[in-house]
Amino acid sequence: MSALLLPGCAERRNPAASGPRGTESVPRLARVRVAPDRVIRTIAGLRPFRPSGFVVRGEKAGDKVVIHNYGHGGAGITLSWGTAQLAVAEGAKSGLRDCAVIGCGVVGLSTARLLQQRGYNPVIYAKATPPDTTSNVAGGLWEPVSVFDEARVTPEFRRQFGEAARFAFRRYQSLAGDAYGVRWLPLYRLSRHDAIGPPPAESPASDIEALYPETKQLARGEHPFDVPYAERRYTMLIEPATYLNALMRDFLVNGGRIAIREFGDAAAVMALGEKLIFNCTGLGARGLFGDAELTPIKGQLAVLLPQPEVDYMTIGPGGIYMFPRRDGVLLGGSFERGVENTEPDPATTERILRQNGALFAGMRG
Ligand SMILES: Cc1cc2nc3c(=O)[nH]c(=O)nc-3n(C[C@H](O)[C@H](O)[C@H](O)COP(=O)(O)OP(=O)(O)OC[C@H]3O[C@@H](n4cnc5c(N)ncnc54)[C@H](O)[C@@H]3O)c2cc1C
Repeated sequence: MSALLLPGCAERRNPAASGPRGTESVPRLARVRVAPDRVIRTIAGLRPFRPSGFVVRGEKAGDKVVIHNYGHGGAGITLSWGTAQLAVAEGAKSGLRDCAVIGCGVVGLSTARLLQQRGYNPVIYAKATPPDTTSNVAGGLWEPVSVFDEARVTPEFRRQFGEAARFAFRRYQSLAGDAYGVRWLPLYRLSRHDAIGPPPAESPASDIEALYPETKQLARGEHPFDVPYAERRYTMLIEPATYLNALMRDFLVNGGRIAIREFGDAAAVMALGEKLIFNCTGLGARGLFGDAELTPIKGQLAVLLPQPEVDYMTIGPGGIYMFPRRDGVLLGGSFERGVENTEPDPATTERILRQNGALFAGMRG
């Protein structure tokens, strides 16, 4: 009986539900309670950004083949399965089977899992594992943003980007549920000054715009936020703590081995016994393989006490964002290019709280 009633309840709460004459009803969204004494932690991390985008390519070095898979900027969680798929396909061309994955963040773990699924038996080598990776700091929104500078993108990168995003988008859907901490939520993109529309055709982002279901520009009366421009669409939220633990578990249960090891340079990597090596070291590739294009973009987060009743996400206005994770309501909105330290800055925390606080305090209803 209750199972029969549930769909009806879901429909009433569905923000996309239409009114009786096909008009959009104003969704009732729970207000996020932003206050300094609700902050349970502040954290910062460095996005491994490259202006020309992530690197997935093979390189022969003596009797070894290195497949690089790093530089995912602000979207390593989002793109991980997709670039892993490209990297594994590249590795298969070598004909080698005995393989190692360097790195145990989301990119290394996804690469290692795809290798297992294709019958390889990879060993992961990494100086740190979850929860001590940048991937654990990520917000977890599925959205490939802050991945490249438009002016630097090549046609080849654009092809890889589209392919990776489409593969990853599909793959995450098969992991939706509590076991992996993946769920669908409406995302409200909000702006005070500019209308929100699709990316321009010359941007690689335009190639994947059609992936997002039910994208809709909202008139002022169709959303509760005190901003003139709003768009709602649906995407996935991936809880990094749950998700990375699940990937580790899957890797180990399927016979994988993780060795804690720090490599000082590329020569140390090349001294490994395995002949096929996947380099998934994120920002670490800068020191290890001398990629001078890798630039950190520092991002800082303030995490509030969990609010299970908040069932939507926001981005904007002005670059701030809110994701209602099970481990806390995450508030963000800082992008400091070239900043290397991971110390949370109290002034940035204060700004993130103030700007997000103003957004939720100004909600109607
Ligand atoms: C504040 C913030 C918010 C973010 N929000 C999102 C989001 O909402 N959605 C999204 O998709 N992405 C987001 N990101 C981006 C995401 O966190 C990164 O793109 C992603 O973590 C990169 O994954 P990775 O596996 O390449 O790197 P990492 O997680 O850094 O893993 C690198 C691995 O390599 C190992 N390693 C490095 N150097 C060496 C060495 N010399 N020897 C041995 N091991 C080494 C490390 O120990 C680690 O195991 C966010 C990032 C930040 C900072």
